[in-house]
Amino acid sequence: MSASDHKVVDMHFHVGLVGDRWKELGGMSKEYRSDLTYKIFLMYVRLDDDKVCDAVLKQRTLETIDSSVVDKVVCLALDPVYRSDGTRDEGRSHMWVDNEYIIDLRKELPERVLFGASVHPYDLKFEDRVKKCIDEGAVLLKWLPSAQQINLADSRVLKALRFLATACPGDKPLPLLLHNGPEYAIPTTDHRTKSYDYLCWSSWDNIVNFFRFRKKWHKPEIKKIHRNFDLALKEGAVIIFAHCGLPYFSSGVLGQVLEHSELSVVKDYLTRTARGDFGNGKCFADTSAVATPFRRSYFSKINKFPKDLLLFGSDFPTPVFELSADSGEMFKDFKAILKGKLYRIVVPQDNLLDVNLREQRKAFPGATMFTNFSRYGFDRSIDE
Ligand SMILES: [Zn+2]
Repeated sequence: MSASDHKVVDMHFHVGLVGDRWKELGGMSKEYRSDLTYKIFLMYVRLDDDKVCDAVLKQRTLETIDSSVVDKVVCLALDPVYRSDGTRDEGRSHMWVDNEYIIDLRKELPERVLFGASVHPYDLKFEDRVKKCIDEGAVLLKWLPSAQQINLADSRVLKALRFLATACPGDKPLPLLLHNGPEYAIPTTDHRTKSYDYLCWSSWDNIVNFFRFRKKWHKPEIKKIHRNFDLALKEGAVIIFAHCGLPYFSSGVLGQVLEHSELSVVKDYLTRTARGDFGNGKCFADTSAVATPFRRSYFSKINKFPKDLLLFGSDFPTPVFELSADSGEMFKDFKAILKGKLYRIVVPQDNLLDVNLREQRKAFPGATMFTNFSRYGFDRSIDE
């Protein structure tokens, strides 16, 4: 494959179904559908609440992808919660999306859609289901530990990561796309698991947790989590840390101290990868949802990350901003939106995937992140 054949891949694109027509393919809880975040997402996909149904969501998803200049888009499934005994519990998930739905989307746009699978590591059939997804062309596996209630310190996580390390044809790895840091888009039904996305835990986190009183989060077992990662990486696992581990709202110095951040943890994994500490194992960071006024202050830090280890993504339908426009005004608008003043939302008129691509190209000039996913063969075009 020559360099010019490398495709621009948006490797972090969410899809959803409310479950009115295809109950077996996904669902959203009533609570989630009354949530402010959900309403913001609807505005970004330009849909009125009363028009939302599975058929319309599917059509809108396909239109967005088809009308974008991005070559390929990894659409993400999201497995529901599995209890600790390994049984499935859709009722404990505010939102879930079946792998079959992504396969359906790919049938509609085979040249553009890539299959981002999701299989819960507690599922007793984890390996069989992953194998089946790989046979169907899965390019990565997605976990959102808080909402899926996955404790990353669990021994089943290590077992799953070890399996993923050689799961693809030719003993190649199936990358894990791992959400980390604070999560605001898809809430968990068990507040204690909000910390399951954390890869570090400071004394400040301890203090904040103390004042949660009866709403305390589980204190994450940080050492065990990193032990799991390190062991699997040395066996060839590939882990993609979403959003470069950035906090969402912090922009000023004070905010950077107060809001939990995984940036330095993620940077450390990337540095160790660049040094070759993990052998064949590799860590990457994706740039999804960074085109916001809050995260803009981190662009210079991201620019210093090893360029080969960054992957381009959008996190659609998370809000994307035309940062080159008047940023002061935008900042005020965004703060107002978060307080529920939805009339202040200014949704960019263009295709949102294109806006994201354009803004990130400006923010990270000359970066290889846009084609890295394809360059590493993660789109599995080399297998074909
Ligand atoms: Zn995401």
